[in-house]
Amino acid sequence: MTAASLLFPPSLQTVLPVRGCKEVMPVHRIYCIGRNYEAHAVEMGHDPSKEPPFFFQKNPDSLVVGGDFPYPPQSQDVHHEVEMVVAIGKSGSNIPVDKALDYVLGYAVGLDMTCRDLQTEAKKLGRPWEPGKSFEYSAPCSELVLAADIGHPSEGEIHLKVNGEIRQKGDLNQLIWKVPELVSVMSNFYHLQPGDLIFTGTPAGIGPVHKGDSLECFLKPVGSLTLKVVG
Ligand code: MN
Repeated sequence: MTAASLLFPPSLQTVLPVRGCKEVMPVHRIYCIGRNYEAHAVEMGHDPSKEPPFFFQKNPDSLVVGGDFPYPPQSQDVHHEVEMVVAIGKSGSNIPVDKALDYVLGYAVGLDMTCRDLQTEAKKLGRPWEPGKSFEYSAPCSELVLAADIGHPSEGEIHLKVNGEIRQKGDLNQLIWKVPELVSVMSNFYHLQPGDLIFTGTPAGIGPVHKGDSLECFLKPVGSLTLKVVG
């Protein structure tokens, strides 16, 4: 192909800041794992022991980095889901579980914001989840912390406070499908690329947010992410 000039400038590259690093990480794709903590699977009415991991996607454009979360006008029931986020650092496919952590660049804490009313309707009608899961500003995320600095955490508290009150609480050791298994599974579907993010699922205690709420996410090896729900 000859080098053609672009019809219009490409959209801006979404980036994540990296703690202790001048450079930022360009974000490629966003995968989200469903029902990956037993207590959350149960609160959603499912038997976690019977389910292989499943996933959906959000757009890199949906990331909110260092800003507030605008309440989406198309929903009346937006829920918080605090999650550990895994960042991929090198490309690979069909990655074996025992090699998977070599592909992980670092970790962040994020929110898989969900329009529960739209997701519930989609489930009922057998339609895709996109309206409930992949909407504008649906993926607030903290800065990235490098595995080179903190290692690969397999335990540690994860929680979410709404207006100072604990709503979700769990521990990374409760993940049904662990990070190496998730990276391996995703690499069977996709050629994983540097900058891909995997939201690893949410612990129990999901619930609605309202305009004016202050959300504080915490993940033991990463730190906090604080933001406001705005109108
Ligand atoms: Mn989720």
